[in-house]
Amino acid sequence: MIEFFSVLIVDDDPTQVAILSAYFTALKVEHIASACNSAEALSIIDSGQQEFDLIVTDLQMPRMDGLEFIRHLKEVKYCGSLVIISGMKDDMLGHAGRLANMHNLNLLGQIRKPLTKAALDSVFLKKADTPQTRNGTKNPIIVTQEDFARGMANGEIVPYYQPKVDVQDAKVIGAEALARWTTQDGLSIPPDVFIQMAETNDRIEELTYYLFDKALDDLNTFLKIDPNLKVAVNLAPEIVNNLALPDRLNQRIASHGISSHSISFEVTESSILKLEPVTLEVLSRLRLLEFEVAIDDFGTGSSNIQTLRDFPYSELKIDRSFITNALTNSFSRETVYAAVALAREQGMRVVAEGVEDMETWQLIRQLGIEHAQGFLLAKPLTAEHFRQFLKDHSEGLATIAA
Ligand code: C2E
Ligand code: CA
Ligand code: CA
Repeated sequence: MIEFFSVLIVDDDPTQVAILSAYFTALKVEHIASACNSAEALSIIDSGQQEFDLIVTDLQMPRMDGLEFIRHLKEVKYCGSLVIISGMKDDMLGHAGRLANMHNLNLLGQIRKPLTKAALDSVFLKKADTPQTRNGTKNPIIVTQEDFARGMANGEIVPYYQPKVDVQDAKVIGAEALARWTTQDGLSIPPDVFIQMAETNDRIEELTYYLFDKALDDLNTFLKIDPNLKVAVNLAPEIVNNLALPDRLNQRIASHGISSHSISFEVTESSILKLEPVTLEVLSRLRLLEFEVAIDDFGTGSSNIQTLRDFPYSELKIDRSFITNALTNSFSRETVYAAVALAREQGMRVVAEGVEDMETWQLIRQLGIEHAQGFLLAKPLTAEHFRQFLKDHSEGLATIAA
């Protein structure tokens, strides 16, 4: 049974649009819209009149091609599913698919023209039963502002902690706090969904401070087990351009009796692409207060060496799309090498996220990457499970170190 509610078809060929519309009508999709080029599609999305949980796009279109469109989808924080279709050679579909994955878009699949029912079914029917986000949770889920307010008021939204491990000795050095929302009826709402919702509805500040306070409470309990642990907290782009941020964060750690040395902040590469002086001041003040600041999702934006030089980072986190594919894809591997070289030049520490197997662990070890995070080591854990994890692995992760 298909779960899509609202679909946008982007193709300059009216015949293809008609085929796809008929297909989705038969699947009882409630709202079907189409655009004959990417610019029109973006203006439909921008108008905000309709949220789409699926976009099907052609690659070859006049004015703006599908590749550029995919990049714009990332920029407008589209979080529904994506399917790419093309009449070009297979490897072009492969490149476009990799690009969509690098942008962390939720790519359901690629379909080669001519469109046949079997080809469409192979993507939409197979996936429709279990639409996945990157994190394996059900998507799409529509969250209203009222749900969100209730979720916070009821304490349904909490930080989980994904262990960060020293690559040389496999000891746990800290954790990244990752927001999790489980509703009272047991439904898990993926962070991508509610964080974007908070961002677009001007509630991200409220959510950030709410999570920060919870993380500080938890951190006090972690520090009793290991006083050197650091917790990393994500700061959304909307947050880092507020000059009041450093003092507010500093006041909160002081009231919890925690030192800034126990905290690091992660700021995505895309949030600093435009060299705003305010952002530079905010990040510099965080560093002056002796918090660490990491550049997150490195490789997915297009920051150049100058941008890196201009911002006071202490750590570079290579996006997991590159780490996960480093062994199988030479472009990803080269990106990892380049990121490490860049970090060395800037005196920054490197973190590899998305380490899922031993071979990748060996690779990042050979490269001298300092810290790692990923499902090989541990998934994000509740505060209680993380405390247990710390106790169980006080001498390091034996299976990995061996
Ligand atoms: P991120 O900051 O890049 O977080 C890392 C994401 O990678 C997490 O997804 C984590 O569960 C996932 N991950 C870690 N290791 C692996 C692995 O080995 N394989 C795979 N496939 N995935 C792995 P999560 O928790 O769903 O978070 C998604 C994004 O949501 C985060 O990306 C971050 O941008 C945002 N987010 C989560 N919590 C917060 C928060 O408290 N505040 C803000 N502003 N953003 C948050
Ligand atoms: Ca992060
Ligand atoms: Ca990341």
